[in-house]
Amino acid sequence: MRIDNPPNARAVATSRRRFIATTLALASAAGMPRPMIAADANQTDGWIDAHTHVWTSDTASYPLAAGYRRDEMRPASFTLDEFFQHARPAGVTRAVLIQMSFYGFDQRYLLDELAASEGSCAGVAVIDDDGQDPAAEMRRLQTSGVRGFRIYPRNRPVANWLDGPGMAAMWRCAADADLAICPLINPDALPALDAMCERHPGTTVVVDHFARIGVDGNFRDRDIDQLCRLARHQRTHVKVSAYYALGRKQPPYDDLAPLIRRVFDAYGPKRLMWASDCPFQIVGQSYNDSIGLIRDRLDFLAAADKEWLLRKTAERVFFT
Ligand SMILES: [Zn+2]
Repeated sequence: MRIDNPPNARAVATSRRRFIATTLALASAAGMPRPMIAADANQTDGWIDAHTHVWTSDTASYPLAAGYRRDEMRPASFTLDEFFQHARPAGVTRAVLIQMSFYGFDQRYLLDELAASEGSCAGVAVIDDDGQDPAAEMRRLQTSGVRGFRIYPRNRPVANWLDGPGMAAMWRCAADADLAICPLINPDALPALDAMCERHPGTTVVVDHFARIGVDGNFRDRDIDQLCRLARHQRTHVKVSAYYALGRKQPPYDDLAPLIRRVFDAYGPKRLMWASDCPFQIVGQSYNDSIGLIRDRLDFLAAADKEWLLRKTAERVFFT
């Protein structure tokens, strides 16, 4: 099962890929009307999906990074229009677009879709923290609607994956410029992340997909304790997302309820945000399956809590 795919994880992920593209093939059929993606009067009344990827089959205009092939793009196309064909019927009017691994550090497609979204989307970019001046790159991208930066251990040992000078510069810049650092990690990277949060208490952090707890089917208390321990840093947040890849990996995802309850008790509703992780959520399952868990099925969430998980937290972090 695929769950995000940064460059260093490609060798492992490639062997695991299985996609059922029927839904998307139908949705992208020629002649389907283009949905309105521009800002409208009701845009801020809808839900926010805090994590989707977008890409285009037009690899002439937007070339893939070295090592990626067109046949690895499954579905072949997942544009912002195609995303909203799934999201709008579920009441989602805004989204956070996450830079796709196919494009490496080339953010051009992300920035073009952000511009086309006319305010309905914010961006999370991926830059090289070993580059010449990562903080300057962050501030440059901020002017184009990027509000967060995805980081992951790459090929570094998880014990000290955050120790480099470039990473420190990114965390300082994020605090100064009100940008978010968005770690894509497994549970074994949590201790180093915790120490980094201790060193940078002013930096907003949004952990993807519960730190992938449950990706192997097991929700270990030790991992959940580590994730919840991170909550003592007041600017840490968790994305409640990627259900298709966690636990039993089948809708309606009720087996995720105890995990969500634990992070809810630790972080509270104002530091949790729901996200789908499209298109991976919808290649074999549905968009409504994802949003439905928070919206319809968890009885420990009051209506006001759902407002935070489905809109207000992401709005505060990525849209204000
Ligand atoms: Zn993702």
